Amino acid sequence: MRALVYVGPERMEMQQVAEPELRPGEALLAVSAAGVCGSDIHGFLGHSERRKAGLVMGHETVARVLETGPGVSGWRPKARVCFNPLVSCGVCPACLSGRQNVCPDWRLFGMDRLHGTYAERIAVPACQLHSLSESLPEEEAILVEPMAVVLHAFRISLVETPGTMAIVGAGPIGMLALVLAKLRGLPQVCVMDVNEGRLEAARRLGADLVVHGGHRDAVEEVRAWAGGAGAECVLEAVGLAATRRAAVAAAAKGARLVFLGLAENESALPWIEMTRNEQAVFTAFAYTPRDFQASVRLVESRRFDLKPWTESLPLEEGQRGFLKIAHDPGSTLKLLLRVGEPSRAA
Ligand SMILES: [Zn+2]
Ligand SMILES: [Zn+2]
Repeated sequence: MRALVYVGPERMEMQQVAEPELRPGEALLAVSAAGVCGSDIHGFLGHSERRKAGLVMGHETVARVLETGPGVSGWRPKARVCFNPLVSCGVCPACLSGRQNVCPDWRLFGMDRLHGTYAERIAVPACQLHSLSESLPEEEAILVEPMAVVLHAFRISLVETPGTMAIVGAGPIGMLALVLAKLRGLPQVCVMDVNEGRLEAARRLGADLVVHGGHRDAVEEVRAWAGGAGAECVLEAVGLAATRRAAVAAAAKGARLVFLGLAENESALPWIEMTRNEQAVFTAFAYTPRDFQASVRLVESRRFDLKPWTESLPLEEGQRGFLKIAHDPGSTLKLLLRVGEPSRAA
């Protein structure tokens, strides 16, 4: 079958690869579309330890069931589906307490040796499948996975709805956080980024303030907007030392800081100030099956639309698409690779 294979830093190429093997408990899927995640871009640039040459990446997927292996019931051929690409052991204390995202053995399709969905077909555990309605556009359906990340972050870090939220980073995760904040009725949300096109998108998606992070007084702009005291909640969705520091500086005393960005491992932060200001620090990673299920429902409700900022390319043009999204995305937020037959007309 055809697949887009990562062959080295900044290089993807179409290759013929072996068909997936369908094992008991699994479903064989025909992939129709796969989204490009920030972590795939990280891998493409050669920055990911767990994405090595020879890997087929891709874990945001719309597909149809082709056939099911022994022991699988309830899925008919042609059923339109997405799947939770994060697989956990199911038996460790983390899994048993519903925190599958911190299972010591979690695996992700499109990472390590587990091929992902920049390929015509894939076999996945049937218990990871979720049904999708026929009317949901592919551009919306591929947002189930990143929106699950945002739902998870909100669920574990926000007990009460803050009055002001600042989002640092207007990539797909930051933008979906803006969307979710607005859907949840957060009164004031601001977005900081260095990409003008994405800031304009944030404005159109309902941001009350957009701030160019390159401005010398960017943090002061956020603080002033939040009544001079800083934002009650700051969500960081980049993961660089500079953006993490900006997130702390933009936060009010007693604020909640939610770190999602995964760009750099180590960053110095002003811990004495943060401690004296009693800022609560949360980190959030991926999602649990519960968050993924909630995300399917939210995306199916079609209450937001990122299609104006989604670009779609055939899988064969993946190399070009990756170069663009990695180096010069402009206002494009999400890249969708069309793999096989569209799973929905139009
Ligand atoms: Zn992802
Ligand atoms: Zn586990």
